[in-house]
Amino acid sequence: MFLKTCYSCGAKVKALHEGLCATCCKEEFKPIEDLKPIALKYCNVTHKIAYQNRYHEIEEFVTLLPNIVRKHIVISPLYTLKELEIEDLQIVGHKVIFDIKVECDLQ
Ligand SMILES: [Zn+2]
Repeated sequence: MFLKTCYSCGAKVKALHEGLCATCCKEEFKPIEDLKPIALKYCNVTHKIAYQNRYHEIEEFVTLLPNIVRKHIVISPLYTLKELEIEDLQIVGHKVIFDIKVECDLQ
């Protein structure tokens, strides 16, 4: 088997990505390139979250959010998205704040 050398750490691997081994590549290139703005608004009166002119209970919205984020996220062409999770959803004033956790495979 012909092995290639990672330009960064010198590891001998079967396949390089942009000249790097998988470990170095994942450190160098972040999988999430961009997240387009998602217009969300929390209503303090009804305690619901507005998205695209529809109001959702928070519990319901949490189940919809991964699919909404998938439509707005830009994954680097180096990766394929495996899993996407939403963490630490918080309501601050009228804003809905959350973290996005992704699991990706190198192409
Ligand atoms: Zn490396």
